[in-house]
Amino acid sequence: MIAKRIKWGIHPDTKKAATSGKAIITPALPQQVVIPVRQHIGAPAIPIVKKGDLVKKGQLIAKTDAPVSSYIHASISGKVVEIADKPHPVYGEGLAIVIENDGLDEWEEGLLTERDWKILSNSEIIDIIRNAGIVGMGGAAFPSHIKLNPPKDKKVDTLIINAAECEPFLTVDHRVILEYTDKIVTGIQIIQKLLSVDNVIIGIEDNKMNAVIKLKEAFSKTTIRVEAIQTRYPQGAEKMIIQTLTGREIEPGKLPIDIGVIVQNVSTAIAICDAVTKGLPLIERVVTLSGKALKEQKNLSLRIGTTFADAIELCGGLGKHPERLIMGGPMMGMSQYTTQVPVIKGTSGILALSKKDVNDRVESACLHCGKCVDVCPMGLNPSILSILGEKELIDEALKDHGVLNCIECGCCGYSCPSKRKIVHYIKYTKKLLNDQAANAKGGK
Ligand code: SF4
Ligand code: SF4
Repeated sequence: MIAKRIKWGIHPDTKKAATSGKAIITPALPQQVVIPVRQHIGAPAIPIVKKGDLVKKGQLIAKTDAPVSSYIHASISGKVVEIADKPHPVYGEGLAIVIENDGLDEWEEGLLTERDWKILSNSEIIDIIRNAGIVGMGGAAFPSHIKLNPPKDKKVDTLIINAAECEPFLTVDHRVILEYTDKIVTGIQIIQKLLSVDNVIIGIEDNKMNAVIKLKEAFSKTTIRVEAIQTRYPQGAEKMIIQTLTGREIEPGKLPIDIGVIVQNVSTAIAICDAVTKGLPLIERVVTLSGKALKEQKNLSLRIGTTFADAIELCGGLGKHPERLIMGGPMMGMSQYTTQVPVIKGTSGILALSKKDVNDRVESACLHCGKCVDVCPMGLNPSILSILGEKELIDEALKDHGVLNCIECGCCGYSCPSKRKIVHYIKYTKKLLNDQAANAKGGK
């Protein structure tokens, strides 16, 4: 098994050893869950329950008919005690439905229905996926019922299942492949049926060879290919994994579907299997809790809405004050200001990093060494982009240097000997461009 070689990117210490050998644990339920109505790309869902209502596990509690959105379900049974703005791990704050646990963990009636997915039509399967509130679980959180129902004029010939998991610390994809193999097989077969594609490739980094072997065995009687790909960050970014596995490149401003490819995360395949074969909505997901500030590091299957504080308690609490608290991985994850934020559908990791984990840096002037250019997977010049961002020369960054093509992977800053906060300047440039576009729209 030879991993495909690539040139761009970096190879940071993967720091996965703390949890990669640890089986997924389903812990005791929290006393309360805080369920944001916006856990996806698109319009927030609108609550359809009110304070005081009794709800069951899996009950629909928020929805909208907006074209791009996703349904939200109760993740425990109990009483709605509050509907209010609460800390949110992506948006800082947002409307959430707070449910007090009644200790019964009772399913909503009508769920848990065993189904033979092979006799369902594609439109029935798409409806099930929409009603189950499934979104991309690799972090992007794009509603799956839209992604898997592409416009008729877009021809899809390749499905890629992304199990690269290139971010340091995270071991969710690794563990689910080892432990939920059957669900992954069924979930991928359902997606394959929906898209009518013969060419299905599963990409896994070669630091998880036991997962590669497990899936190769599971798919040995099918045409689905399991590929070991070089461990190199950001191998799991959509554009990168497509390039590695198919050789196809996506032009700036285009999407994978424009070159005939759809990418789905491996955990999303599991959620699809659960919804289509058993009628289960997405109310639970596997999360890696890691970082030296935690007393214990684990992979936990947590109900959506579990606060980071409760999740951290399930790891014995904090051994020391974390230098940084992050949702997701350390490269592209989001820093959190409070442990009161909840687990959402896109939460792959909760990292409580100690000083040892964090390499905090004092910035100095650019040396023009070109290291950032060498590692940029998008072929950009991060050095120039950081200088333009610092000087707020946003039109030049847009027109001459393609700032919008940056995927914010952080490879440039990681490699920079001057410790320049390149991604910060790029994000700032994008924000100014957004503001400029919004002002232009408002002025019309
Ligand atoms: S410029 Fe953007 S895409 Fe290129 S290395 Fe930096 S963060 Fe990644
Ligand atoms: S790596 Fe840092 S010092 Fe070197 S060119 Fe890029 S921004 Fe400048």
